Amino acid sequence: MSARTTTAPCIAVRRDDVVPICPHCEADLPEIHVRKLRGPFGIGRGFVFFCPRCRKVTGSGTQWYPFPG
Ligand SMILES: [Zn+2]
Repeated sequence: MSARTTTAPCIAVRRDDVVPICPHCEADLPEIHVRKLRGPFGIGRGFVFFCPRCRKVTGSGTQWYPFPG
């Protein structure tokens, strides 16, 4: 097994015509639920994204806007 290496940047391709699938229950996700994470002093520390059907977390981030473009 050899790692593929490149110096080319990773390009984000916007695809609003493709519906994501939950990696846990494999349901189509035309919408995804997001919940704000709360820090120790009530300060938002980011967001957690989860499947509306099985409620399993699909990812997290510090912002959900803006998406480029
Ligand atoms: Zn799911």
